[in-house]
Amino acid sequence: MSITTKTFKILDKEIIVHFSDENQIEKYFDLKSLDSEWHIRKIGEYHLTQLLACIRAYWYWFKYDRELTLIQKGIFFIGKIYHKYIQDYLEKTLGFVIIECPCEDELEDGISILFKIDMASIREKEISDIKTTLYMPILSDLSVEKFEEKFGKYILQVLAQIYFVNNTYFKLDPMKTIKILYVSKANLYVKEIWLDYDKELAEYFYLKIRARAEYLHKHLLSDTIPEHCDPSKYCVYCAFVDLCPEGEEIKNSLSIPISYEGNLYVEKFRATGQTKKAYWKYDPEKKGWIKTKGFIEFLIKDLKYTAKQIEELL
Ligand code: SF4
Repeated sequence: MSITTKTFKILDKEIIVHFSDENQIEKYFDLKSLDSEWHIRKIGEYHLTQLLACIRAYWYWFKYDRELTLIQKGIFFIGKIYHKYIQDYLEKTLGFVIIECPCEDELEDGISILFKIDMASIREKEISDIKTTLYMPILSDLSVEKFEEKFGKYILQVLAQIYFVNNTYFKLDPMKTIKILYVSKANLYVKEIWLDYDKELAEYFYLKIRARAEYLHKHLLSDTIPEHCDPSKYCVYCAFVDLCPEGEEIKNSLSIPISYEGNLYVEKFRATGQTKKAYWKYDPEKKGWIKTKGFIEFLIKDLKYTAKQIEELL
């Protein structure tokens, strides 16, 4: 641990303090306790939430026995605390609530999709999922695109879940509503987003997730790398960024260190427009920033450069 010693003043009195900017998480948190049984690596068993993120990252996770990054463990840990608190409270106040209900959807060809339902309220016939955020948006201000970007994945996830349980566990008494509880980590502000169960829509999303599981399974069995998806969104906190060409390009183009919250980082970059070296990559051998394939695209698409201008520039 690197220690710095500095002199500061408090009420005109000089004080000498020592500190370290390095993360001391392992001294104060039992990180091993976060590796739950739920995350056992078994080809054929896929977790629904993981299937919604980058399939290539999930593929790497199966192939390389890597620990979660500290950032991932931290996010997981904070999420667990919020989930537990809300679930315990609702169990006391509402009653007839099934908490953390584990489900396994067995498809053909030895593939299963696993997930847990955060809360199923029997009385209300409602399935809820808890999501935590550092940035609480004003929902009514969100554009259609922004709404999809922020909540599309969550809604898709819960619709697929409800489709499964309404065709299995709750076939006789189906759930009618899905709800997302969006909780601010900063001040506990909670917003609710809900929608009625629509069988056709839910089936559509459910089949999409099944297809993703089958795609991943095929690539794991054949040992071929799958396509990445939407790299810019996930790469900043991906544990396999050093193995993945697309991810590395994006991660290296960020010019300040990754913060504890991946989304904080992206938001910062959006707000200032200056924390990102667009489409440049740090080359450790040349010890400098080099232009990448993405940079050429940036010149063509964003700056509308002609082929001649690009040739002159490079
Ligand atoms: S670095 Fe990005 S594109 Fe590559 S596997 Fe990770 S999340 Fe996917």
